[in-house]
Amino acid sequence: MNANQQHNKLKSPINIPLSVPEIKGNEWDYVKECLDTNWVSYVGHYVNKFEEVLADYVGVQYAVATASGTAALHTALLVAGIQPNDEVLVSTLTFIAPVNAIRYVGAWPVFIDSEPKYWQIDPNKVVDFLNQECRWNNGNLYNKLTGRRIKAILPVHILGHPVDINPIVEIARKFNLTVIEDAAESLGAKYHGKLVGDLGDISCISFNGNKVVTTGGGGAILTNNEEWAVRAKHLTTQSKQDSLEYVHDEIGYNYRMNNIAAAIGVAQMEQLDSFIDKKRQIASMYSKGLQDLADCSLMEEAKYAFSTFWLYTLLVHDSVVDSDSRQVIRELQKFGIQSRPLWRPAHRQKMYQDCVYYGTDCADSINALGVQLPSSVGLQIEEQEYVIQTICSLLNR
Ligand SMILES: *Cc1c(COP(=O)(O)O)cnc(C)c1O
Repeated sequence: MNANQQHNKLKSPINIPLSVPEIKGNEWDYVKECLDTNWVSYVGHYVNKFEEVLADYVGVQYAVATASGTAALHTALLVAGIQPNDEVLVSTLTFIAPVNAIRYVGAWPVFIDSEPKYWQIDPNKVVDFLNQECRWNNGNLYNKLTGRRIKAILPVHILGHPVDINPIVEIARKFNLTVIEDAAESLGAKYHGKLVGDLGDISCISFNGNKVVTTGGGGAILTNNEEWAVRAKHLTTQSKQDSLEYVHDEIGYNYRMNNIAAAIGVAQMEQLDSFIDKKRQIASMYSKGLQDLADCSLMEEAKYAFSTFWLYTLLVHDSVVDSDSRQVIRELQKFGIQSRPLWRPAHRQKMYQDCVYYGTDCADSINALGVQLPSSVGLQIEEQEYVIQTICSLLNR
């Protein structure tokens, strides 16, 4: 029986989404309290509570909750003092948000390729670029090609797996660069036992609907730098200086998280560890179920890593009979299974194709081959078995 016949045999319409939230805890109760008490906007005890819980969880001193992960990134770059025409090294294989945030402050991205094993930003390439393509002059580092000052490195921990960040932090210290972690996809992941979000100078999380923990939409900035934390809160609340008078001391933003979102977030954080357990079970079931596929690479976990396996990803190599990765995605859709490609590398996007890119074609090839598989916390075992069977019958024919 081929995969089509197998599908036709199943009566009910199947719809297995890529990643949907799991709302099974205290979310309803906490949101109801916001509505009942009228605390529905940017001030309220859940916003403060959510910040406390986040800072405690990651082990940093300060958390500032924002309206989105993108707003958190924009604000982090502002408080870290990234100036127009500075340059920021960033992963090219990433969701576009951190790259856009670099442009929001008028700075320029320098795109760094991925390493082939865990698909994260390649620390060797970061080190080589800074040592070989830049020049140290008067306490600042300059890109020899563009003449611009290098100010920061923005590694993105993609797909729930940490970047090999020690070499990056080490070279950042040497050249006096700021390390801004984008931990949007990787809350709860660990690097040598230490949680991501506490590995650099400042970090950002996202609580978008498909992230491991959601607030509907939202984000946060984490840091141990008190001055930066205070300024982040100030900037995200319109930089109002006086508690009574409408006096503002700089151009601020309406970037604060609201109390309803934070109420959802507090309830979600109570479940984070169990969500991560479930994601890791899903990953190990995929890894077992798909291990015999010829010419596919499975998602791995580095020795230094504790991965949350946010979205389990499979690389389908070209040699697989008439199945490039996009074909696999289209076929899975016919079977009611939602899957997705990885992000097109940022240096291939039309806004950024003239920016500096340092690497070979590793990110391109991961992009060409990658298929993200259903990874919702609520994914049932029978559903996952069906996904695995369908993939095996598609790729082994
Ligand atoms: C989701 C995401 C963001 C942005 O978060 P939003 O809350 O959607 O603005 C930033 N960076 C990465 C790597 C992401 O995956």
